[in-house]
Amino acid sequence: MSRSNPVHIVGGGLAGCEAAWQLATHNVPVVLHEMRPLRQTAAHQTDSLAELVCSNSFRSDDRETSAVGLLHEEMRRLESLILRAADANQVPAGGALAVDRIGFSAAVTQAIETHPLIAIDRAEIDGLPPDDWDSVIVATGPLTSPPLAEAIRNLTGESSLAFFDAIAPIVHRETIDMSVAWLQSRYDKTGPGGSGADYINCPLDREQYEAFIDALLAAEKVSFKEWETSTPYFDGCLPIEVMAERGRETLRHGPMKPFGLTNPHQADRKAYAVVQLRQDNRLGTLFNMVGFQTKLKHGEQVRIFRTIPGLERAEFARLGGLHRNTYLNSPLLLDERLRLRAMPRLRFAGQITGCEGYVESAAIGLLAGRFAAAERTAVPLVSPPATTAHGALLAHITGGHIETIDAGPRSFQPMNINFGLFPPLSQTPTRSASGERLRGAARTLAKKRALSARALTDLDRWASGGVTAAA
Ligand SMILES: Cc1cc2nc3c(=O)[nH]c(=O)nc-3n(C[C@H](O)[C@H](O)[C@H](O)COP(=O)(O)OP(=O)(O)OC[C@H]3O[C@@H](n4cnc5c(N)ncnc54)[C@H](O)[C@@H]3O)c2cc1C
Repeated sequence: MSRSNPVHIVGGGLAGCEAAWQLATHNVPVVLHEMRPLRQTAAHQTDSLAELVCSNSFRSDDRETSAVGLLHEEMRRLESLILRAADANQVPAGGALAVDRIGFSAAVTQAIETHPLIAIDRAEIDGLPPDDWDSVIVATGPLTSPPLAEAIRNLTGESSLAFFDAIAPIVHRETIDMSVAWLQSRYDKTGPGGSGADYINCPLDREQYEAFIDALLAAEKVSFKEWETSTPYFDGCLPIEVMAERGRETLRHGPMKPFGLTNPHQADRKAYAVVQLRQDNRLGTLFNMVGFQTKLKHGEQVRIFRTIPGLERAEFARLGGLHRNTYLNSPLLLDERLRLRAMPRLRFAGQITGCEGYVESAAIGLLAGRFAAAERTAVPLVSPPATTAHGALLAHITGGHIETIDAGPRSFQPMNINFGLFPPLSQTPTRSASGERLRGAARTLAKKRALSARALTDLDRWASGGVTAAA
């Protein structure tokens, strides 16, 4: 392989942009192929690279006790473009890292467009990449265009690559009645970019909640097409009407939980349920309804959401909807460097590999970029240790569930990063720094802190040799 040959990346989303950045910063030329705006997906709305199609949150930024916060920190240490752009475009969101979506995508687009080693080709790759592209990263995401998805399906012999996710509505801030709603973060949590009063809260009493559940259950849903009926939901992104069908109290224990919040308009009365809205842009003019993914018909969404106290006159910048998610049976199809076993010149990255979420997709893009750079420059690179968040995620994707796949129907499911993916500690902390015996929640927190500390030590060791590092 010649070093001057570019690595081709298909898809300029979170994973594709991060992979391009990692390659270019390791002096490997890149051609990034992005089909928008010539061809749009069902969810993207702009021609920007790294567009966030739904929530504007990268979730918790707590690097000590949250696995995704730890992943943020590892990405910062590995000079991630996506984390750099997120940090530079942060909006208040309690302990979460949330971003101004326009500013974030603009920052990524500008960095990619101006890098001298990256060329952008605005075109759809509508089949297998040409034979003379000897190193390709496919990062076309959950909405991979149908001709490419079909070509991959034929190549891998997979019968099905899809399941469903749903997206939540966004409301214009000025149309929310703040004489009913109030600003407060749950338990007044401040976090790195927050003030303790970052969410808008809309209270429901018991009668209003029961009426809301009745309305959800009776509402008209978007009907399933025949090919959709056997496709399951990702459990972390259930539509609210599906949650309501699972039990009348399910929402009150999920996205509508009232805990850690006090209504200043009625300090003597606890709300029975609360709908939270989170700031969606830097200006603070848009707020999204947290956890309110839905497949209700648009007219029904407007009618029912306006029964929520404070949202009686809400205007919606975007309503919720359903989308399809394409992902590979990765443990069976990819090797430990994310290459397709059947055609190793093709490497995969992002959500199509079966990770879930913006951060995880970008992290797998980061690894794919580093693996491709190491291959191009003929420098050996071992995988990050499984004790790191990157290594744990990679191990889940390339190693998870392989026995059960062989034994029967596909069991590999997309997964957010979580501490359950990390190898256990050789010694679990039993006492605090002051010598007290740890119990219950305190012990769980101490364990997470120890897992995070081990991860960062191991990551630094892995990264310290650059692409030549040994584990
Ligand atoms: C509707 C929806 C809502 C979601 N909500 C959330 C959320 O709230 N939070 C969260 O963390 N994650 C969410 N996700 C998951 C989210 O998409 C992924 O986490 C993340 O965007 C995946 O990154 P990616 O780089 O793999 O794919 P993407 O960011 O989707 O990027 C893929 C890119 O490839 C391009 N492309 C596709 N096919 C071709 C082709 N043949 N040729 C050239 N270019 C092509 C697309 O135009 C796109 O720009 C959601 C996904 C969808 C679809």
